[in-house]
Amino acid sequence: MSRDHLLRALLPEHDLRVLVCDATGVAQHAAHLQECKPTAAEIFGQAIVGVLLAAGLGKERQRVTLQLAGAGPMKGLFTDGSADGSVRGYVREGNVDFPGRGLDLDAVVGPDGYLSVLRELPNGEYYRAAVELEDPRLDRNLEHYYAVSEQVPTTLSIDVQVDEAGTITRAVGVVVQRLPGGDTEALELVRKRLHAGGLAQALDGETGGAKLVLPLVEGLGEIEVLEDLPVRYVCTCSRERALRGVAGAGREEILDMVARDRGAEVHCEFCKTRYHFDARELLALVDELTPEDEQK
Ligand SMILES: [Zn+2]
Repeated sequence: MSRDHLLRALLPEHDLRVLVCDATGVAQHAAHLQECKPTAAEIFGQAIVGVLLAAGLGKERQRVTLQLAGAGPMKGLFTDGSADGSVRGYVREGNVDFPGRGLDLDAVVGPDGYLSVLRELPNGEYYRAAVELEDPRLDRNLEHYYAVSEQVPTTLSIDVQVDEAGTITRAVGVVVQRLPGGDTEALELVRKRLHAGGLAQALDGETGGAKLVLPLVEGLGEIEVLEDLPVRYVCTCSRERALRGVAGAGREEILDMVARDRGAEVHCEFCKTRYHFDARELLALVDELTPEDEQK
């Protein structure tokens, strides 16, 4: 069984929210599906943890998407997560490896790269904001995003380890956010600890869950665990959705597919499932798209 989970907690004495996410298993699975080389796997793993933390900060079951885009070799990636712990994603180019070099988003995703976050609001509308990539690390860019776009004092740290074969062996993150009226000084103390490498040190202690953050929030009172959810890789694609995607191409194009390829194949970028539609199915779709008065 996977130990992947998303834990929500509070530091009631200082009105800080704390989220801990271990997505090692799903990140490993996702990077494998995308055939990521080590550098691409590391960034993808960071984004998966990042989107789970960002979604976890949302209310109820809102979805959050986190995208990176730029003119670098990896071109970018897309991840989409929900506060219920489900996540999926894909990379634009997974065949990227810079062995022996520290991770630098500017070199891999940029130059002129940006991070964009799309958040579903309780009323069903969406809030989108983007920040330029200003730091080699994804977690620092996310922190910057919270400072400028959401304007909520937030600090986070993400730690992803990848072996030489590109297998993710660790994908863990922590976020601490101030609640309205919460203690800014306490938050800044946690930020200082995280920026000094506190998460990696805590992880070396081999403790999981709420215990993992104890060294990071030391001196800030009791930690109160609210919820601990399993994290899962969930793709929402289906044969029906894939067919609707084909329908979007329009009658002429579908008739072309029949004439040219005797069918159509749609593949899901997230989970790599292939959906094949034969000529008969495509012609039935054309019939559906044809207004009745044009049908014989
Ligand atoms: Zn899929």
